[in-house]
Amino acid sequence: RFPVATPRSGRSRLVVLAGPTAVGKGTVAGHIKQHHPDILLSVSATTRPARPGEVDGEHYFFVDDAEFDRLVTEGELLEYATVHNRYRYGTPRRPIDEALEAGRTVLLEIDLQGARQVRAAAPSATLVFLLPPSWDELVDRLVGRGTEQEEERARRLRTARVELAAQDEFDYRVVNDDVERAASEVAALAR
Ligand code: 5GP
Repeated sequence: RFPVATPRSGRSRLVVLAGPTAVGKGTVAGHIKQHHPDILLSVSATTRPARPGEVDGEHYFFVDDAEFDRLVTEGELLEYATVHNRYRYGTPRRPIDEALEAGRTVLLEIDLQGARQVRAAAPSATLVFLLPPSWDELVDRLVGRGTEQEEERARRLRTARVELAAQDEFDYRVVNDDVERAASEVAALAR
């Protein structure tokens, strides 16, 4: 089991949720969106094609490379990164600024590279790292999900090792052994 640290520093209403592949970030974020409508879940732009069932503007803003370049050049992204050496993902800045100005809490579900950029851009942001109950459990979840081929799985697990090694950079660590519990823990940190 991974040890869970005690809180490290002050908090702001900008909350970043990161963690390794298949740990259940999306599920936890979705749960918060559903049960805590006062918290704004940021919608990222991505060059990844939509998966079946994903809605443009709801799950992501699906854009092509030229449009992503434009967002970068015009400074419209708070952070951006190429994830799993493949597609680009970024956080639109304006909806976040507006929500924070209106006093709302904003939750970003992004990768480690993005979390570091947010830390640099907004030092008072609250960084939360979502952990699997154990490494074996993480491997089981990735295999069980069945959405990746062997080679892609191996690649994601390599990234996961790197990400897990960076957990000490975060303000809080939350273990995702139960989605509802983990979600309410994250939501409580976002208050
Ligand atoms: P997926 O393609 O499975 O939806 O997401 C792949 C990865 O991209 C996840 O680790 C997710 O956290 C990350 N991601 C999603 N949106 C953003 C974003 O706006 N910025 C960064 N840096 N990572 C993101």
